[in-house]
Amino acid sequence: MCLNEKIEVLKKANLKNYCTFKIGGVAKIVFIVHSTQQLYKVCFMCEIHMLKYKVIGLGANLLFDDYGFNGVIIVNKSHKIRFYKNCVFVDSGVNLSNLILNCCNKGLGGIENLIGIPSTVGGAVVNGLGAFNVDFANFVEYVDCLTENGQQIRLKNSACRFGYRTSIFKQKNYILLRVKLKLNVSNFKTIKQNMLIAFQKKSATQPLENFSAGSVFKRFFIDTKNKQFNSNSFIKNNITKNSICYNENNITKNEKFFEANQIIPAKIIDKLGLKGLSVGGAMVSTKHAGFIINTGNATSKDVKTLIELINQKVQLVYGFTLPLEIEIVK
Ligand SMILES: Cc1cc2nc3c(=O)[nH]c(=O)nc-3n(C[C@H](O)[C@H](O)[C@H](O)COP(=O)(O)OP(=O)(O)OC[C@H]3O[C@@H](n4cnc5c(N)ncnc54)[C@H](O)[C@@H]3O)c2cc1C
Repeated sequence: MCLNEKIEVLKKANLKNYCTFKIGGVAKIVFIVHSTQQLYKVCFMCEIHMLKYKVIGLGANLLFDDYGFNGVIIVNKSHKIRFYKNCVFVDSGVNLSNLILNCCNKGLGGIENLIGIPSTVGGAVVNGLGAFNVDFANFVEYVDCLTENGQQIRLKNSACRFGYRTSIFKQKNYILLRVKLKLNVSNFKTIKQNMLIAFQKKSATQPLENFSAGSVFKRFFIDTKNKQFNSNSFIKNNITKNSICYNENNITKNEKFFEANQIIPAKIIDKLGLKGLSVGGAMVSTKHAGFIINTGNATSKDVKTLIELINQKVQLVYGFTLPLEIEIVK
């Protein structure tokens, strides 16, 4: 990578090229930044000029609208990684798999089960990324971010309010610049072995070969005592006012999608026989019912219609709808 890479500016850029779903219309302007300084500069400029903007990583959790984005998309490719003992200081634009490989070479582990998940470090923090019993958030010491008025602030782990696929960054319009991680001292061989197992497991069960944005729906946490679901709380099983009551006659502990106080959308969709269901170019994956894949020329309308069809069926049978994990960007 060239050290003096300049900010790239693309007018009327096709958003298909900036997300893993390969869906979306045109954005007025796309900026591609290669350092946190450039990220700061572009965001600050957008704030000053009151431009609508959004910072993205790999776009691995996004569904861009067919009508595009009437503003500025900033693609974060900041890429610095610095090690100090078992701590890593990493730019928010660093690709997660690259980071894991770099850490592996240094004998630092803990996050290796997350290999192969398309994400930047920024996206992983915002979304509370996790897999195979590993939560990225558990390794975050602090996050350096930029507030809307151009102030740089440091948020410790506890201030990030991590929860299942969520964090404070879903509510606040902070721009993540850098993250400090504290990893486990391990050895290359063990980490590599864990990495291989996790990757094999992932590619055997998920359609990594297709265009998608990962799991479309979020898991629910369930409070059996109060007969309530909750997918929005910051803390697992912390039932809030937003909780949804469920009908015990429809869901029993014997149902296969009920696991460790969680309702698993993929299992519900599978049970309803919806694998392979398609609208236009969007299809429920036959490999993993939680994924909607773009079979070639899907539009965001196709995906949204398919989501509606799934939720209509779920509502009819179980009396609730599945909350979205993917983010729809307009
Ligand atoms: C094949 C596949 C498998 C997947 N498997 C998993 C899995 O096992 N576990 C899991 O948790 N997820 C999984 N995902 C979902 C996805 O990988 C995660 O949500 C990931 O964290 C998205 O990262 P990103 O960098 O692409 O963020 P984006 O999708 O680009 O952005 C996500 C959100 O974060 C915001 N954001 C990103 N960077 C910044 C920044 N620097 N500052 C401020 N805001 C920012 C964006 O504005 C957006 O709101 C999968 C996705 C795919 C396609």
